[in-house]
Amino acid sequence: VYGFYDQDLTHKTILVGDSGVGKTSLLVQFDQGKFIPGSFSATVGIGFTNKVVTVGEVKVKLQIWDTAGQERFRSVTHAYYRDAHALLLLYDITNKSSFDNIRAWLTEIHEYAQSDAVIMLLGNKADMSSGRVIKREDGERLAREYGVIFMETSAKTGVNVDLAFMTAAKELIGRC
Ligand code: GDP
Ligand code: MG
Repeated sequence: VYGFYDQDLTHKTILVGDSGVGKTSLLVQFDQGKFIPGSFSATVGIGFTNKVVTVGEVKVKLQIWDTAGQERFRSVTHAYYRDAHALLLLYDITNKSSFDNIRAWLTEIHEYAQSDAVIMLLGNKADMSSGRVIKREDGERLAREYGVIFMETSAKTGVNVDLAFMTAAKELIGRC
């Protein structure tokens, strides 16, 4: 249907969510296919990684921005959200407060992001079944309430990591 072509547009994709939920780890897993244990410095500044995702016959260019969770308290966020085409919002299934804060994140996203931006809610650290405190259904319910796409991921095992970015890319094709 689309024919084979490279999309010229680079889609700005941003990773958001509380500090420690696994944003940097998720991007490292997607970019390099590996998990580097141990915390990345929460103070590492805004940086981005360019990746091309192939959806069917379409190559979708993603420019993926990683942030430290604290950045939402700074004024840079407004411009940062404004030109984002896709937002991957993470919580940690073993950390209740990271899940409870999702509503605040979504409020902020709805305030500053473009109304047609692709929003995905990701319950990360799905490999940690023993430490789980947030049920999959709780994530699904919240996502349904806000009309966003949901999946559980593991930056450690790689489960659903490619799928998450692939799904975002697929949605972007539909909207652009
Ligand atoms: P960020 O602050 O959101 O960027 O989170 P990090 O990527 O720095 O990860 C915080 C901590 O959680 C680190 O110790 C990571 O190794 C760990 N972590 C991140 N993702 C996962 C995951 O999917 N599974 C497990 N078991 N640990 C993870
Ligand atoms: Mg980080």
